[in-house]
Amino acid sequence: IIRLTNVHKWYGEYHALDGVTLQVKRGERVVICGPSGSGKSTLIRCINRLEDHQRGHIHVNGIELNNESKNVVAVRREVGMVFQQFNLFPHLTVLENLVLGPMWVRKIRRPEAEARAMHFLSRVRIPDQAHKYPGQLSGGQQQRVAIARSLCMQPQVMLFDEPTSALDPEMINEVLDVMTELASEGMTMICVTHEMGFARKVADTVVFMDKGQVIEVAPPSEFFTRPQSERTQLFLKQVM
Ligand code: ATP
Ligand code: MG
Repeated sequence: IIRLTNVHKWYGEYHALDGVTLQVKRGERVVICGPSGSGKSTLIRCINRLEDHQRGHIHVNGIELNNESKNVVAVRREVGMVFQQFNLFPHLTVLENLVLGPMWVRKIRRPEAEARAMHFLSRVRIPDQAHKYPGQLSGGQQQRVAIARSLCMQPQVMLFDEPTSALDPEMINEVLDVMTELASEGMTMICVTHEMGFARKVADTVVFMDKGQVIEVAPPSEFFTRPQSERTQLFLKQVM
């Protein structure tokens, strides 16, 4: 469903992605890890064109991401994204945060949008928080709202960029549990995370990046026990 072919990206002079080739199949769960500054966020931001690339090709669902804005719009319809910072609208209630996209982008009427919002709030186990404002919720709850908000748009792929790294330790698991559940329901997911337990348990494929390059792609059973490259071995020593 996602195909990157020899993708290069520069920020000015800085070569942030250096020939990345990667494929993600429908239903596949991919965890991306690697040292700080290795290009993980850049890579997933390129997949819904929050950043543009300068060389190579990115296809999502058969649509190429290029300067055609209709392609970008079409891809973003299918791709949900959850960030480290929750990016909720602070002046709107949880429910309003959730109905906004479906009503304005998908042209769904309010009663149906609200029903859908409540459905996904139940899925992330906080239907009782619907009428609160984001500032009245814990970090873990806010992140679950952010996940529910993405799901309300019924994406075919979910991208996560360190969704738990801004959370207090006791809230990390409630967010990982929701992500695990999503994975078990067959959602195609790409997650940047340092949670190696999650990677081991949930990922079909672990991708290790360093210096803008994909160094290693392997199922967790191999990645964690028989890492091929020296850089991967060094990284695993540091994080495990
Ligand atoms: P982290 O684990 O710290 O989140 P990362 O792997 O997500 O790191 P990126 O955020 O993709 O790394 O950044 C890759 C490199 O590109 C870094 O060296 C960063 O300084 C640089 N970079 C990222 N965004 C920009 C930007 N908007 N302008 C210039 N340089 C940038
Ligand atoms: Mg990052």
